Amino acid sequence: MQSTPSSIKLTQSMGPKILVTLGPSTSSIDVIREMIKQGVSGFRLNFAFGTPETWSSYIKYVREASSALDTVVSIIGDIPGPQVRTTGVESISLSKDDIVVVTYVDLADEYKRLGKVIPVDRRELFEILQPGDTILYGDGEVELRVIEASVDHAKCITVNPGVLKPGRKIVVPGKELPTSFLSTRDIELIKYACSEDLTYIALSYVRSEKDVLFVRDLLRQFKCNIGLISKIETPGGLRNAEKIAEVSDALLVARGDLGVHFPIESIPLLQDRVVQVAVKHGVPVIVATDVLESMIESNRPSRSDVVGLYNIVYSLVDAVLLTNETSIGKYPVEAAKWARVIISTALSNMQHVLVEEFRRKISSESLIEKYAQGLIHLAESLGGAIIVYSKTGRMVPLLSRHRPLTPVYIGSWSRKLMERATIYYGLNPVDLSSKLSETVDYERGVEEVYSKLRDLGVIKIGDIVVKSYSKPVVNQHEIRVEVVV
Ligand code: PEP
Repeated sequence: MQSTPSSIKLTQSMGPKILVTLGPSTSSIDVIREMIKQGVSGFRLNFAFGTPETWSSYIKYVREASSALDTVVSIIGDIPGPQVRTTGVESISLSKDDIVVVTYVDLADEYKRLGKVIPVDRRELFEILQPGDTILYGDGEVELRVIEASVDHAKCITVNPGVLKPGRKIVVPGKELPTSFLSTRDIELIKYACSEDLTYIALSYVRSEKDVLFVRDLLRQFKCNIGLISKIETPGGLRNAEKIAEVSDALLVARGDLGVHFPIESIPLLQDRVVQVAVKHGVPVIVATDVLESMIESNRPSRSDVVGLYNIVYSLVDAVLLTNETSIGKYPVEAAKWARVIISTALSNMQHVLVEEFRRKISSESLIEKYAQGLIHLAESLGGAIIVYSKTGRMVPLLSRHRPLTPVYIGSWSRKLMERATIYYGLNPVDLSSKLSETVDYERGVEEVYSKLRDLGVIKIGDIVVKSYSKPVVNQHEIRVEVVV
């Protein structure tokens, strides 16, 4: 077992990033600080749970902890989107063959005369339900079959028994809600994410590129500069993944929901398909849910979780997102630590041929793309670290998409750009916002990145560095090789 470094000033990352979900298990600055020390580079707030007060306290902890450790992390606000959830306050226990009524929350009292009632928060559910449909609760733990469907309720029989809690998701496999993409509450949540200056919002249940473009329009109206991560989790999302990738800043393979909309055994294929789409379109891709599921209850991962994460690393995705392990699990810090240990072990055993094969799928056509590719080849062949200064963030995807086999440090005057870079494979963002302004020239920028790395001891005497910057206006690309003295 690797020892925990006492302080991590700049996480040297050579592979996929570790993102985690915040929740009751991570509601203290100490836990968040420890997770950053373990290499966590981004935190997700799941707006389906909690209140603005709790989210704002998490945001404060993340910002305080990351600034104390002089590191850059992202914060992602996850917008629930068109999903149906159970409401009420009490858990409902269902036995096999129990008859239940699913209805809109306002009508729950009215239907109590027919037996047990499951109140839900969206009326539109009853527009899609038909006799014979399956309704799955949570991640599929409880299954109901619709016997009768009407405009405001459905009578169902329990196929798989279990306990239903308020606030959990209800899914009708293969069907999507015929409704506008965002509810009034979702729009309020987007405004909240903007007001808190979060790095990204994750959009749940994206059905087509139109949903993403709708949010982009909204953000323009709000004058809000925030990245958009599209969660691919429904039949429409999967069908339209190519077009969604074209208008998104990242894709997220939401395996929890994919596994309720589709047969669970098809997840490896679906995950692979989304990863291929993201790579083709040059957007980062995050794999979420059930990454270290066994660690919700245990301080060590199961063998199968270890193998699963190892294989995720070999699929060369940009990031993994831990969900329940860190939000409600008993061992959030240990989960982050094990993610780091498994990822670094997988990377150290990874055959370079895997990366070479991956790179063959990427075409570099423009000069800037060729320059990024050449820079990586040069640094790898010299055994040097890449040090780049970026004013616009253009180099972030261009370098990351080649899955660099050497450390890449990318600095910028813009903290926001550096936060955005925290979900990209193999990049180590260096925040220079307290020192540099937008107008500083590139030459000085790259030297500032270099001195910060020297001061922190990240690079040492004798190391080879390849310093570089690219001036977009004049189409000039500078590369300088140095041995650190
Ligand atoms: C998922 O479905 O895998 C996911 C990450 O989304 P949520 O946590 O909203 O279920």
